[in-house]
Amino acid sequence: MKRVSGIALLLATAGCATLSSPSTQRLGGAAGSLAESREGRAAAFLLEARYGGIHEDSAATLRLEEIAARLMRACPQLPQEWRCHLLDTSARNAFSLPGRVYLTRALYEDLENSDLLAAALAHELAHLAHEDSLKPPCASDSEALEREMSADAAAARILRNSGFDEAAMRGLILLVGREQPDDWVRRRVQRLDTAVP
Ligand SMILES: [Zn+2]
Repeated sequence: MKRVSGIALLLATAGCATLSSPSTQRLGGAAGSLAESREGRAAAFLLEARYGGIHEDSAATLRLEEIAARLMRACPQLPQEWRCHLLDTSARNAFSLPGRVYLTRALYEDLENSDLLAAALAHELAHLAHEDSLKPPCASDSEALEREMSADAAAARILRNSGFDEAAMRGLILLVGREQPDDWVRRRVQRLDTAVP
């Protein structure tokens, strides 16, 4: 775990991370207002600065927005007020903050088909729905892993409901396995098989 100006950045998953701070945790209210709160903007600024800034690619953004729209049409209970951004880095990772989902440029380029991109978005949307970025930082690897496995299972259901290949969630875990702690890939795939048979 690394700390950046009081905001804890917890690297995890499907090459994904969650940001959390005690100040944002106390805010309450809608994700949209959190996203535009001082704390929300500060967290976004730090994350974007850490990962190379925003990578402008209108074709990629349009493609991601089209996939996201399909996910949200099928699952109206998902957070609807958020924007997707690419980060200009060769690291393969994804992140979510209130009102914001980030994929790194390298991850986007690695995910060749729409099902894998949908899996990455669905996993991050599950984190948003679970409000993981507003929770205190995980106290242990096992707590972090539990958040990831919970998001994996939710993502597989989102993929199923929206007509994407739900097996893509498993594929995504395998693809980003090298970014994760030892043993996480096996345990995440195992849990996925159990939770979403
Ligand atoms: Zn995750």
